[in-house]
Amino acid sequence: MQLQFVGCGDALGSGGRYNTCFHVTGDRVNFLIDCGASSLPALKRLDIARDDIDLILITHFHGDHFGGLPFLLLDAQFARRTRPLVIAGPLGIEARLPQLMEVMFEHSSKTKQRFELSVVALKPTERRTFGAISVTPFPVIHGESGGPFLAYRVEAEGRTIAYSADTEWTETLIAAARDADLFIAEAYTYDKVVKNHLSLKTLEANLAEINPKRLVLTHMSDDMLARLGTLPHTAASDGMIVEL
Ligand SMILES: [Zn+2]
Ligand SMILES: [Zn+2]
Repeated sequence: MQLQFVGCGDALGSGGRYNTCFHVTGDRVNFLIDCGASSLPALKRLDIARDDIDLILITHFHGDHFGGLPFLLLDAQFARRTRPLVIAGPLGIEARLPQLMEVMFEHSSKTKQRFELSVVALKPTERRTFGAISVTPFPVIHGESGGPFLAYRVEAEGRTIAYSADTEWTETLIAAARDADLFIAEAYTYDKVVKNHLSLKTLEANLAEINPKRLVLTHMSDDMLARLGTLPHTAASDGMIVEL
């Protein structure tokens, strides 16, 4: 199995990075975690076949994690996709997705798709299975609007991938990511503690308890990007592949 960072940027385009989108593929799985606004061009730039993607997991409804879906669905329609697609995300996604589509492309939410599209709301801590993928969402803390906010613990092909999503420090990250083969963690700032986001120093203070086998930092602001090359951890870059 492998995970490719299609986009690992923040909402502000820091470092010219694409918005959040991770692509996981294996013998029996092919899915995305998040689909930020710039994800379709980012996927095309990496020559990733969108038709083969079976599942898209959404962490929250901010544009840099969710805003790419109308483009992806439009592309699927134009490319005459026939393979079913599941989009799963926080409670309310069944209403939020058509709203977003209507804002971006009027009437697009009412267009009859050539493929079966299932939109599934996930309850925090309730484990769900999609084909060969098991997903457990964990509630995280990321402000007043754009939620609910979910971190994910995803199990597939004998491996565990955890993603913090955007969040300030919360104990639920320990349960979400404990002993994971790969923990993708937001490290928005280096040591400055800001509301709704995670600093690297806060993450480091809890890392021993989380004990991930691999850690990759993502969603970095300019403050963090200026320190690339001096950090004692792997930092994501767009296009980077992690073998699992
Ligand atoms: Zn974000
Ligand atoms: Zn966010």
